[in-house]
Amino acid sequence: GIGDLGVIKVMLLGESGVGKTALAQIFGGLEDNLPHVLGDSEEAYEKKILVDGEEAALVVYDVWEQTDSCSWMQENCLQMGNVYLIIFSVTDRRSFSKVTELLLQLRTSRPNEDLPIILVGNKSDLVRSREISLEEGRGVAVMLNCKYVETSAALHHNTRELFEGVVRQIRLRRSRR
Ligand code: GDP
Repeated sequence: GIGDLGVIKVMLLGESGVGKTALAQIFGGLEDNLPHVLGDSEEAYEKKILVDGEEAALVVYDVWEQTDSCSWMQENCLQMGNVYLIIFSVTDRRSFSKVTELLLQLRTSRPNEDLPIILVGNKSDLVRSREISLEEGRGVAVMLNCKYVETSAALHHNTRELFEGVVRQIRLRRSRR
């Protein structure tokens, strides 16, 4: 179950429309099932994945937008995760501008913690409408001291690598303790 010990809680943060639900559904393996039957109400996807020959259990939470204008829900979201994916769309500079604010909010909520945070530039398939270059994304990630990954939920590009990266970040920190 979702409350199990050792399950890695992955929280998806980011503006509306950047692809949080698309990425969560790819993780859950639901993206090509019948969405009208399943409904759009799914908010947590639990799955075990094999990374470097070892199994890991993840729950991916797609709840961030529901916390809009509800500060205790937002704070709860910022407290409960083991890993955070801060997602923006490479075609939307406004969503990119939010990244720094989100990261500061997160680090303020969890001071003195070495939280694994991955900055995710999604929609890399939309080459013609790209507004944020790979270099600019990477630059901000370096400045904010987090990992950077570009994905395309539409093409499933780098999506498996993204969630494998989540597990590796957690293992790296556990092995350091
Ligand atoms: P959310 O509001 O952050 O959950 O974003 P959604 O997952 O609902 O995606 C918003 C829109 O962007 C939808 O129409 C998706 O189909 C589309 N979308 C999401 N990811 C990608 C992507 O990687 N490439 C393209 N071309 N469209 C995407």
